[in-house]
Amino acid sequence: MNENISAEFLREIGKNSFFHHNGDMEMRREGLRCIISAKRAGDPEATYLVARLILDEILKPEAENSEEYALALLSRAANKGFLQARAYLNKYCRERYREKTGARFADRGCCGPLVDFDNKPIRVERKGVFTPIDAVLEYKGGRNVLTLSTNVMFFYSDDIPNADKFENSVLRGLYAWEGEYEVFGGQRIWVSVQVTQEDRAFDNLLIVPITEAMESSIRAMNDAVNIGKKKAILSDTIKHKRSFATNGLKWRANSRKIIWVQSENGLFNDYEEIMHVAKHEFGHALGLGDLYESASDSLRGVEKGTYSELDSYAINDRFYNLVMCDHHGPISNNDIEMVILAFRENKMQLYQPTKTKGKISSALGKGN
Ligand SMILES: [Zn+2]
Repeated sequence: MNENISAEFLREIGKNSFFHHNGDMEMRREGLRCIISAKRAGDPEATYLVARLILDEILKPEAENSEEYALALLSRAANKGFLQARAYLNKYCRERYREKTGARFADRGCCGPLVDFDNKPIRVERKGVFTPIDAVLEYKGGRNVLTLSTNVMFFYSDDIPNADKFENSVLRGLYAWEGEYEVFGGQRIWVSVQVTQEDRAFDNLLIVPITEAMESSIRAMNDAVNIGKKKAILSDTIKHKRSFATNGLKWRANSRKIIWVQSENGLFNDYEEIMHVAKHEFGHALGLGDLYESASDSLRGVEKGTYSELDSYAINDRFYNLVMCDHHGPISNNDIEMVILAFRENKMQLYQPTKTKGKISSALGKGN
């Protein structure tokens, strides 16, 4: 029997015995054993079930911190594409976040034009032909609206199958930033994302899938321009099929913005994954730095307990269920706060020091 099928089979047997035999303890114990074996075999649904049973205090793991252990399991199941795990993990983090910050929100009004932590009005108006992503903050109809608009252009060096589906996934990743958030001490803000797709010579957000032809031209270019360490990092990034965003030499509202998308199998047909990747890379185009730990990029990661506004999303030590840490993760209030600051100050907002810059965003450490 195929290993996946046997894990699936075990899990189904386990579920049946555990959930449908309330009175029969022996049957339930046996069911639990099956679910746990299926989890050990890597079955995402069984992994999710074990996490839920731990969080509901039905199961006690050997791990020192059972909540942390359960969240790591949820994150694993979610990243294997089990949607219920993704939904539950995001809900869990959001509720934990509300519990921690609820009191603050209550004493701060929601209405009136947006102000910063020092009660100074916030003005954001970056637009025009030299601004690839326009950002405009307005107070209208009794609510604060941040409109992010961009003209997206896809650049292909050779054909990819189902380009329309690929483009649609990328756009969904951009639109994922749309929604209602609470920033600077619980003030509500609506983020609107507007995308046009006109054929323009400049003033675009470029999206480039790294197809084989593109990869070899990048390599050729890379060999021609010897830029030492940076060259090694670029080759490494391409080799490991990681997507990335470039924002000119330094992120500015008017710097050139390109999202380079890679595909594990070269077919660009993992549409859900492409959506999440585009969501993360759009964060870079909006002026945010990375939150994850990566020795090869000299990023130390952010230790749990450093910033209260991130802690509700902490899975384990330096890993957060947040879009700039794990591209599958949600976009938080703090991310939007940092986007507003990036466009207001015309400066990239960092979660952690990088090799060249040590100053982290002033949004961090103040709660939300
Ligand atoms: Zn990144």
